[in-house]
Amino acid sequence: MVPIADPPLCSSSLSSLQTLGSDGVRITMESALTARDRVGVQDFVLLENHTSEAAFIENLRKRFKENLIYTYIGSVLVSVNPYKDLEIYTKNHMERYRGINFYEVSPHIYAVSDNSYRSMRTERRDQCILISGESGAGKTEASKKILQYYAVTCPASDQVETVKDRLLQSNPVLEAFGNAKTLRNDNSSRFGKYMDIQFDFKGAPVGGHILNYLLEKSRVVHQNHGERNFHIFYQLIEGGEEDLLRRLGLERNPQQYQYLVKVGHSRVSLYELWCFGFNRVLSVWVSQGNCPKVSSINDRSDWKVVRKALSVIGFSEDEVEELLNIIASVLHLGNIQYGGEDSGNAYITTDTQIKYLARLKSPLNLEQASSARDALSKAVYGRTFTWLVNKINVSLAYKNASVIGLLDIYGFEVFQHNSFEQFCINYCNEKLQQLFIELTLKSEQDEYEAEGITWEPVQYFNNKIICDLVEEKFKGIISILDEECLRPGDASDITFLEKLENTVGGHAHLTTHKLTDGKTRKVMGREEFRLLHYAGEVNYNVNGFLDKNNDLLFRNLKEVMCMSDNKILTQCFDRAELKDSRRPETAATQFKTSLAKLMEILMSKEPSYVRCIKPNDAKQAGRFDEVLIRHQVKYLGLMENLRVRRAGFAYRRHYETFLQRYKSLCPETWPSWQGKLADGVSTLVKHLGYKPEEYKLGRSKIFIRFPKTLFATEDALETR
Ligand code: ADP
Ligand code: MG
Repeated sequence: MVPIADPPLCSSSLSSLQTLGSDGVRITMESALTARDRVGVQDFVLLENHTSEAAFIENLRKRFKENLIYTYIGSVLVSVNPYKDLEIYTKNHMERYRGINFYEVSPHIYAVSDNSYRSMRTERRDQCILISGESGAGKTEASKKILQYYAVTCPASDQVETVKDRLLQSNPVLEAFGNAKTLRNDNSSRFGKYMDIQFDFKGAPVGGHILNYLLEKSRVVHQNHGERNFHIFYQLIEGGEEDLLRRLGLERNPQQYQYLVKVGHSRVSLYELWCFGFNRVLSVWVSQGNCPKVSSINDRSDWKVVRKALSVIGFSEDEVEELLNIIASVLHLGNIQYGGEDSGNAYITTDTQIKYLARLKSPLNLEQASSARDALSKAVYGRTFTWLVNKINVSLAYKNASVIGLLDIYGFEVFQHNSFEQFCINYCNEKLQQLFIELTLKSEQDEYEAEGITWEPVQYFNNKIICDLVEEKFKGIISILDEECLRPGDASDITFLEKLENTVGGHAHLTTHKLTDGKTRKVMGREEFRLLHYAGEVNYNVNGFLDKNNDLLFRNLKEVMCMSDNKILTQCFDRAELKDSRRPETAATQFKTSLAKLMEILMSKEPSYVRCIKPNDAKQAGRFDEVLIRHQVKYLGLMENLRVRRAGFAYRRHYETFLQRYKSLCPETWPSWQGKLADGVSTLVKHLGYKPEEYKLGRSKIFIRFPKTLFATEDALETR
């Protein structure tokens, strides 16, 4: 699949009518006018009607149809998941984007990668690339493409090869333990990830460091219909050698394990029925259960990849065995069945090989015992995952390096049913939006200042008010939730909701059923509160908020874990934790703290942005679902982004680039201009009849206010 290249203007440094085809051959393009009609503009700032969402989406559609999945908003890259392999990631492509000016070739993830790399090298400033978008939009693929670009194009040495390998191999390991098949994505990352790639003074990648956020632990014990548990469980069962499985006491049949087949309560929304078709949803529902087998996934060959990756990263055979032992134990834990005694206490009915499981017998009723078992499974898996990340970090450790950070983190989530997880994720997105607005406005302002052009203030919505509503001390939502979690007695999800109503009920961005007296436009449940996020309204159901925020594990279970002879488990469950009489921090507060740290890290770096869009919910190539896309354009804040970028000038270029391209349009600048570049540009635009309000000349760049001015010049070039 070879997409066509962007028309001239997009390849603005090429002074002829020729441009590079994606196969690297120079091809002659049709007139720029018709090409623009057909494939749209490569930068949204060049849209005539930049405030029109319809024009924005039409431009995306035109480009998507031509397999042009990338488009800029200034320096922000918008990417639409093609759901098919495009031949735009070859070594040739990587070479083509090396050292090239951002705007000289078609928009590409490699252009962003290269731009960050060169800024890091020349300006000695740490960089970060923030990738956002909803599940299945292509974030993780984008981050892998960036990593591959550096692995291939950066200078290397023997020692560097090892680090490069480890950096690349950390992906399959983290994906095995942290990704799962969901309805939205067959390889969905169930955790947020920030990864620093470290470069030495020669620009060679020499190390890395990973921070992980909010793993979806609940998936270990329960998955919705049509979804699976984390990949590693199936990989081990399908791919594990006979000997290994025998040692772990596992059978080669996922159906044997409750955590892999347990049929949970399914919530199939009308929307899902519409997207996937009634028959498909029904068949998933009735016959497939939790679908251990998925056509797009080969667990057996993935197992081999993961096993090899673990060795490359530096896991010893013993460590691998201990790690897999934990994975197997979680499956065994899930198979513990309880019976009820006359006294109301639960007892274990299953015969299990793992000795510590026997200690689970404590005076609990049936429901408490099951939930204690599940809490243990979640804690064991969650902590093992963190251990794994730390272990990878040790193998990638390097000091005194320049850094490019990659953030691959969940985008804004709005489902039919939104719970504590969506609340945390959307709070995270509010913080990122705040950072984005601050930094974008700041970099615009900096550029104007550097170029000596007067800054014109931009009106924008500052979402600090929503961040405060969530995180403020004492009266923020998280504080109120924590207070209920700590309060002995009758505290419940509902008393939390009542407290919200009493404390922040008057806030412009929060409402509940009671506060609105049920008179809201959209129906709201009695157990819900609604936040008006920067991206739109979301209703959160408070059910489970207290439990999920407490995330408690019985003390005696922790004790048992500390006594384990599995070395990984004893590192995960530290005895010091038992001695500490303070209450552990709640999940929301931990998340808030780690987000604050993340913001600090990102603030200290120069950011680039990749905004990923999912074209349809059926994971199909070529299908452009306008309703779905409009939602994402909104939730990603793209129109706001474009507005800020267009508030001043639509187009800016270095004098040299501008003169090189258009010098043939003016007898005084053709064939070459001898004087100062700024004077040459000034002469040229006067000759072209630019009006004073249409442009400004800075120290090194020309700023053009409206796209039509530039297009007229571009068309003059065509018809000359
Ligand atoms: P996210 O991380 O945003 O949830 P992924 O990056 O896992 O989404 O992408 C989901 C799937 O979409 C991938 O497994 C792949 O099949 C497809 N995909 C994403 N980006 C691309 C791309 N650039 N080219 C081809 N397929 C892609
Ligand atoms: Mg992902």
